[in-house]
Amino acid sequence: MFRLDNKTALVTGAASGIGAAIAQAYAGCGARVYIGDIKEPAQPDNFIRVDVASEEDCQRAARHIGRVDILVNNAGIGFVGTLMQTAAADFDRMYSVNLRGVFNMSRAFLPAMLERRYGVIVNIASIGGIVGVKDRLAYCAMKFGVVGITKCMALDHATDGIRVNCICPGRVETPFVQQRIREYPDPERAYREMAATQPIGRMGWPAEIAAAAVYLASDEAAFVTGSALIIDGGFSAGK
Ligand code: NAD
Repeated sequence: MFRLDNKTALVTGAASGIGAAIAQAYAGCGARVYIGDIKEPAQPDNFIRVDVASEEDCQRAARHIGRVDILVNNAGIGFVGTLMQTAAADFDRMYSVNLRGVFNMSRAFLPAMLERRYGVIVNIASIGGIVGVKDRLAYCAMKFGVVGITKCMALDHATDGIRVNCICPGRVETPFVQQRIREYPDPERAYREMAATQPIGRMGWPAEIAAAAVYLASDEAAFVTGSALIIDGGFSAGK
């Protein structure tokens, strides 16, 4: 139903998981899609190597690609720990990728959007940017920051033709999550327990997040800016 014909999109972290699903969905809706990642994707067409933690890399990507209509800031990493279990270096790394990465990429691509008075930014935050999650101090700190950047940019550029929204997924079954499950002593039990934390009784699928990213990027969402769209199987509903 939603189309992205004649649109150019860049999706960071699209070599895997949610980003790969978004890139695939955008291409299926007619967009020309660039994949920005530190890791080469399985199909390296339109791949640009970019470390979002590096301002220089992001600026280089912007010079290389030129303008994009849609920027999806999806690249992110996880970290488990309380305050005392989080070393300063861990906190800094989470900051560099998960929060500064959104800042770096947005600063690199916004000027061309402002010039054309058209642009859509979709940030992939997390339910951990809306509610606190136990043992995820650094992750939540950065994701709350991503929701903050989203809302401030939406206000600052509401009359510039730029829309900025974020998606806040609950647990989504991606390679990242599957790898974490394999590290538990009893992976099957860990899987069941993770699925059970969502009232719906299962984890989400990358395609379910991609569907929302298509909507937010489409012209049908022309009145949507500054929103934090929760897709979490009901996880946060009772919090
Ligand atoms: P994933 O590990 O499957 O994919 C992340 C991708 O980001 C990888 O391809 C990786 O190479 C890339 N990446 C990592 N650091 C990078 C960097 N510095 N520069 C460029 N690319 C980099 O993870 P995923 O589960 O698909 O997560 C994608 C996003 O969704 C993340 O921001 C994550 O925080 C968010 N999220 C995931 C879940 C979940 O349950 N999977 C839930 C909520 C939010």
